[in-house]
Amino acid sequence: MTTKEREVALSVSWQDCPLRKIGRSGLETILKMLHVFRSDTEGTKGDMKPIIARNCIYFPLMVLRGQNIKKYIGELARLEGLSPLELAVYKKQKIKALLEFAYNNTVYYKNVLRRERIGLTSQGSGISLKRIPYLKKERIMDDLEDFVCRNMRHSWRSTSGSTGTPLIFPKDRMSETYNDAMMHIAYSWHGINIGDKQARFWGSPIKRKDKYFQLLKDVLLNRKRLSVFKMEKSACNRFLGKLIRFRPMYFYGYANAIYMFASILESEGTDARIPGLERIISTGEVLFEYQRKKIQDVFGFKVINEFGSTENGILGFECEFGNMHVMPTVHIEVVDKDKRGFGELVVTELNSRSIPFIRYRLGDRGRFLNITCPCQRPFEIIEIDEGRVDDYILCPNGKLVYDAILAYILRDYVYKFKAYQENCRFLKIIFIPRKVFTSEKQNRVKEKLQTYLTRDMEIEFVEVSAIPEESSGKYRYFVSTLNKESCIG
Ligand SMILES: [Zn+2]
Repeated sequence: MTTKEREVALSVSWQDCPLRKIGRSGLETILKMLHVFRSDTEGTKGDMKPIIARNCIYFPLMVLRGQNIKKYIGELARLEGLSPLELAVYKKQKIKALLEFAYNNTVYYKNVLRRERIGLTSQGSGISLKRIPYLKKERIMDDLEDFVCRNMRHSWRSTSGSTGTPLIFPKDRMSETYNDAMMHIAYSWHGINIGDKQARFWGSPIKRKDKYFQLLKDVLLNRKRLSVFKMEKSACNRFLGKLIRFRPMYFYGYANAIYMFASILESEGTDARIPGLERIISTGEVLFEYQRKKIQDVFGFKVINEFGSTENGILGFECEFGNMHVMPTVHIEVVDKDKRGFGELVVTELNSRSIPFIRYRLGDRGRFLNITCPCQRPFEIIEIDEGRVDDYILCPNGKLVYDAILAYILRDYVYKFKAYQENCRFLKIIFIPRKVFTSEKQNRVKEKLQTYLTRDMEIEFVEVSAIPEESSGKYRYFVSTLNKESCIG
């Protein structure tokens, strides 16, 4: 997802959780009980053996959700031993099944395939994906009903709206399970097993109920979380203390957040050695070389880069030789290439059903590399372009707040927005309202934002009828002209 919607914590929707009937007090009781039962050999709190997390919690939960993940892990693991030609045949069959499903179950694709006169019922072999038009997020948002197949179990997901407007869409169980299975296989390339302890640098829900649910999920999945909305020095130091006791096997989080964590610890001269830590996975954003180097210097481990999206799961993952392989759960095309071979990435998610994602424009850029990887997996190798620099909002007291907080709070009120920061005391937000966004409501939203950005941050709202795009065509919802390096320390 590098350049666009970061999943933040929104893939976990309280509305989809069967535990919601328990209520807040019920969740609190469960959390207390879990703390009673959790222990480790060294007697530290908040620890659970990976084997218990894996076999007593993760797999049973997947079964309860109707996700036969072991079967999909088996299917995908076998692909690693195929030749590139055999893999192409596998993908072709998957694409054919996807197109047939889309034709029979969605209004949009029925119309498209009829218009293009693509015969699906005859031989099938003649289907050319290239005749299907590209799909943009806005098209799905405009006519969601035409894309959705509702006759299956699904969860609702939302992108964070970092490109201005969140896409809220259903994700079916089969597609979720394939994506999860692929993630576990990719992690296993680096010795990370299901249930291994994870330190997570991620968003944190705003609503209290969602917070409890998130906490429960973190406990069950053996994770400790540092909210990227609260990355001041004191929070980072506290989190380091927690991690030394927790002994995570790996870090997982936004490139910027892990980089910030490393930078803050380094600037204070803190000893950042964490017992048990072996791997660091960066995701959600472009990982710049200076970030990779800093993280590596501070923690002493190579950074593994993951490329994915909220809509389509993991798309690419670095193997043990540092090459990013395209996951066999997707078919990726590079279109509108420049001289260097970089172009926009267009993804077809082979197992997507509740919304068939076919030739979906990601907004990210990349190119294929025609090299052979020593790992000998048949998956293509891709290089992602450094398309965008994410920023943090600098508060008057020097605190840094992850810019996704804007999308989190504004998404209920505005259709689209863009925020500008030129100095640390003033934030200007231009917006197109969803409905009527009265000055009273604006004041309430300002106050809410100020709880994160401090009371001294002046916030101005300006209603507009259109928001200009960047020259690259991409949409950035937060633009900071502050010196990035000066924000740290
Ligand atoms: Zn490789």
